[in-house]
Amino acid sequence: MIDAATPISPLGLTRDDFARAGAMRGVPLPHARKAYARFYRERDWAAIPDLPRTVIAPIVNRLDEPCAEGVTTKFVQRLDPPDSGRFADQGVPHLDIESVIIPMIGRTGRKGHTLCVSSQVGCAMGCGFCETAQMGLVRSLTAAEIVGQWWAAREILIDEGGAGVPIDNIVFMGMGEPLDNLDEVLKAIACLADHSGPGMPMSSITVSTVGRVDGLRRLVEVVQQEGWKRLGIALSVNAPSDEVRNEIMPLNKRWGMEELREVMLDLMKVRASRKLLFEYVLIPGVNDSDEHAQQLGDWLRPFVRSETQGHIGLLNVIPYNPRRNSPWPAPSEASVTRFIEAMSGQGVYVKRRRTKGRSQMAACGQLGTSEIRGRNYTPITTNKSAG
Ligand code: SF4
Repeated sequence: MIDAATPISPLGLTRDDFARAGAMRGVPLPHARKAYARFYRERDWAAIPDLPRTVIAPIVNRLDEPCAEGVTTKFVQRLDPPDSGRFADQGVPHLDIESVIIPMIGRTGRKGHTLCVSSQVGCAMGCGFCETAQMGLVRSLTAAEIVGQWWAAREILIDEGGAGVPIDNIVFMGMGEPLDNLDEVLKAIACLADHSGPGMPMSSITVSTVGRVDGLRRLVEVVQQEGWKRLGIALSVNAPSDEVRNEIMPLNKRWGMEELREVMLDLMKVRASRKLLFEYVLIPGVNDSDEHAQQLGDWLRPFVRSETQGHIGLLNVIPYNPRRNSPWPAPSEASVTRFIEAMSGQGVYVKRRRTKGRSQMAACGQLGTSEIRGRNYTPITTNKSAG
């Protein structure tokens, strides 16, 4: 049992880090390790006396949308009070994090869920098609706040009698650019993958980035470490050329598509066992023409196939989910099909991401708190030391 005046929260820590922190307060290592496992596995708050329930931010809003596989649930956790009051001064009433539980049915018919987590409140990257971008960056989340989303999602599923329907996958595709907050994201992943804690397989966790090349270079090192080799990495490409990408993703002006491809090739070299995921939000009139498909196929060529590894890259085509006040509509079915066929015709391994949660603003690119959108507290940061 951890017994100290100010309890150490296990959220965002690995079992060993938690035990080490306990040892500094005189708690024997075996006791701390057991307490950690009881907390996560048995949801036993008594394992850590005096740990306030508020370490998990309360859920203040929840929206459910039925789909073929079950129910997509977007939930909002509130991190109030704002850490220094500076956001309140600027008219941001609450610091809210949004996460989405997406039901899945596997090939064998087994039911499960993918949890989409946020890594920041808002985002500084300014992608033109994204709801979150409208908020600007408010602040980055701590590892504990990221793991708190997993905890809250598990509680939702258990409350609904779904204890046997687990969270199978975690994707960092919610609010924020994970590589803009990489230290805390890596800490959170270490915790989520801890066998005594949440116990998520590393292969079931995917970090999705819009292409911070500095952060991707760090990931090239990370995925060579023991225990991290199976971490999923997804790149939101979303454009076939610098010309188009500069228009919709300002980050591309800092790191262009050639540099991006080089770092993805470095990743490919060090992780023979794992496919790279490329995402492509298909936006009518922006990136969906036959010529665009041809250009994208050329850019993806090195990832298409290798003699020893088969397909190395998977292209996930995501029909655009219009954000609020979007200048673009969703693409037609015919144009999605045409684009997918054009990619497949070039030998690209391509899949279509089914749209779930669109009507509740819970679909990809639609997370964002409407009451604080339109604000830009932090300019786009692309300094190399941050990633
Ligand atoms: S798409 Fe991702 S990186 Fe771009 S603004 Fe939205 S949340 Fe940020």
